Amino acid sequence: MALRPYIVGNWKMNGTRAQLSEARAIGRAAARWPGVEVGLAPPATLLHEMASEVPDIAIGGQDCHFHPSGAHTGDISAAQLADAGAKFVILGHSERRAARDATGAGHGEDDSLIRAKAQAAQGAGLSVILCVGETEAERDAGRAEAVVTGQLAGSLPQGEHAAETLSVAYEPVWAIGTGRVPSVADVAAMHKAIRSALLAAYGDAGAMVRILYGGSVNAGNAAELLGVDEVGGALVGGASLTAESFAAIINAAAPLDEGA
Ligand code: PEP
Repeated sequence: MALRPYIVGNWKMNGTRAQLSEARAIGRAAARWPGVEVGLAPPATLLHEMASEVPDIAIGGQDCHFHPSGAHTGDISAAQLADAGAKFVILGHSERRAARDATGAGHGEDDSLIRAKAQAAQGAGLSVILCVGETEAERDAGRAEAVVTGQLAGSLPQGEHAAETLSVAYEPVWAIGTGRVPSVADVAAMHKAIRSALLAAYGDAGAMVRILYGGSVNAGNAAELLGVDEVGGALVGGASLTAESFAAIINAAAPLDEGA
């Protein structure tokens, strides 16, 4: 059985209440293609309002803490995300995995922390989009698959039902926000390797985990990327910020719907 394509927007640290109208327009666009599952991860400040105002799509968080509550200033727990209306959470994004750089950006999250967050999120009833991806130096060194499968080995949530509420997003770090995308052959090879890792980790249940591609997806390249074997959707940054560009990507996913 084909998996329903899943198109998810990650607004990162962009958007104020003024952009709720854009989210409402994305919701209207998503309603036109019911065969495509659409999600949007706004900044936490917009989560509750967006979840109330845009019922046609799933609203999600961009990170969560692994504890349910406590003395963790500035953090948000999975239970709090769910309470605000979130249905999913993005975890292990490369902007959170990255070590703190000279500008102060990066959070240095490692695989075991990401696994703990994923298990906490699933325990709180959220589905998880787990991000993995290699840097340009790692790809140039011929280590891309080893890096990605190593990230999966360390961060995939464990538990009898973990695969049921999991998606994996393959996002080459060098393709995020750069306008560069891997070749179709490289995307296909990596998604095949990820599928093998999922089957090894979860048995037959690993076949039902959607593997999204992320990194400079836009209206112009979405159809080609979404047509690659084992690409079950897309995680979209910049092009998810406006209804016009995001709707074009949702539209590109519609022919992949199992009913098509
Ligand atoms: C992302 O950050 O997850 C992403 C895919 O960004 P962009 O689409 O802007 O490359």
